[in-house]
Parts: sequence; structure tokens; C-alpha cells
Amino acid sequence: MNLVLFGPPGAGKGTQAKILKDARGLPQLSTGDMLRAAIAAGTPLGVRCKALLDKGELVPDEVVIDIIGQRYDEPDCTGGAVFDGFPRTIPQAEALDAMLAARGRKIDLVLELKVEDEVLLSRVEARIKAGGVLRSDDTPETLKHRLGVYYKNTAPLIDFYRRQGKLKTVDGMAPVESVTSQIAAVLDTVPA
Ligand code: AMP
Repeated sequence: MNLVLFGPPGAGKGTQAKILKDARGLPQLSTGDMLRAAIAAGTPLGVRCKALLDKGELVPDEVVIDIIGQRYDEPDCTGGAVFDGFPRTIPQAEALDAMLAARGRKIDLVLELKVEDEVLLSRVEARIKAGGVLRSDDTPETLKHRLGVYYKNTAPLIDFYRRQGKLKTVDGMAPVESVTSQIAAVLDTVPA
């Protein structure tokens, strides 16, 4: 099964993708994690993208399309994958459809985690209060910017996938376990 986890920054996509990996063995393909790994390793790609991530801007479509294509061809994705934080633009979604079609596959389901902006902001504030190591883009100011980027570039995908009849929405403001069970209930309706 190929599943897209969709939602604004901080909606809990990464948390649910990890739970899905443990529960269903579907690898988590997070472009954000891949880019952060490239930055940490100091690769040319990482050097090129660091400032964009720090500011909460999107990296160019071709960069993420390329890394997701390479990652998807690894053997653990034979049974499908959970796409986390990708696609984030219409051209990325079109490239993903084409990439899967070329391999005789398709997106089976797009799960939107719906979370209001105020809740996302209060989550960042809570993380800051709790201390610990935070991502360089995990500040209220950068989150506000990332939300602007989300509404402008990414939210149009809701209609894109709704038109394809693939979009299901769950309440991402519920406790983590409740989001997990909502997702499980939706997945049970998808033919294997
Ligand atoms: P994330 O971990 O998904 O919140 O992504 C962190 C940052 O990585 C984003 O704010 C972007 O700068 C970059 N990024 C991750 N995925 C994408 C994508 N699909 N398209 C463009 N930029 C992305």
C-alpha cells in the first residue's frame, strides 16, 4: 500500500508514520528527515538546502522528487510506503503519480491530519517550555512562516487528491492514540 500522510507542519505526520511502520511494516519516507540527514552529513545537497530548511522555505521540487525516487527504489519499499511530508506542491504530486505509474503502482490513500493553526502553535510553545533539543525550524516565528508556505503551496493538494477520490480526513487534534485508531479504521476500508 502506498499512503500519503498529509497535513500542516507539526500535525503529527511523523509520529503516525512511525506508528504505521511498526504496525504495518510500511517504511516511512520523510523528505524532511532525508534533507536533515544530508545537512548533518554535510553533503553538497545538505549544504545547498540548509538555509531553506532553517527559514521554513520549501526546497526546489526537483530536489525532493529526485531523493524520493531514489529512496522508493530501495528493496524495503516493494510492498509500498508511507510518504511523510511529500508531496508538498502540485508538481511534486504529479511527479509522484508518474513515478509510481512507471513502476505499475499508485497512491492508494491520502490521509489528511486536520489540525487548527492555534493548536499547532501551542504545540511548539509546549515543546519549547519542555526544553530539550528542538529543530532549528521549531520556533513560533518559523512555524508561522511554514504555515503560510503550507496554505499557499501545499493545501491545494487537498482538492487535487479529493478529485482523485483518495482523500480521507482524520481529526489530528485528538490524542495520539485516538489519531492512530482513526487511521487504522480508515485503512481497514482500503482493499488490500
Ligand atoms: P518536515 O520535516 O516535513 O517538516 O520538513 C522540514 C523542511 O524540509 C521543510 O520546511 C522544507 O524546508 C523541507 N522539505 C521537506 N519536505 C519537502 C518537500 N516535499 N518539498 C519541499 N521542501 C521540503
